[in-house]
Amino acid sequence: MECCQLLKYNLDDSRSPLNYNEVFRDYYFDLKGMQAVQSIKYCPFCATPLPEQLAEQWFEELEKLGLEPGDDLPEALRSDRWWKDKNL
Ligand SMILES: [Zn+2]
Repeated sequence: MECCQLLKYNLDDSRSPLNYNEVFRDYYFDLKGMQAVQSIKYCPFCATPLPEQLAEQWFEELEKLGLEPGDDLPEALRSDRWWKDKNL
């Protein structure tokens, strides 16, 4: 759930550098010219704190299952379901 219309609008617009990775619950800027991404902790439009990013927990989850990121992962781990199921 987005905190404001401007954030929602930017996430929906493919021309915007602002993106959301549902697997990691990660809001980030795609720095295309630098071939890098920069995660953000606050909404750049209304300054609401964004939910905690879960990349580290995702890798821990894979490790528990003895899986590697390149493996054929369970469907839940390829979407936001794994952290929603855990109420993270
Ligand atoms: Zn906002």
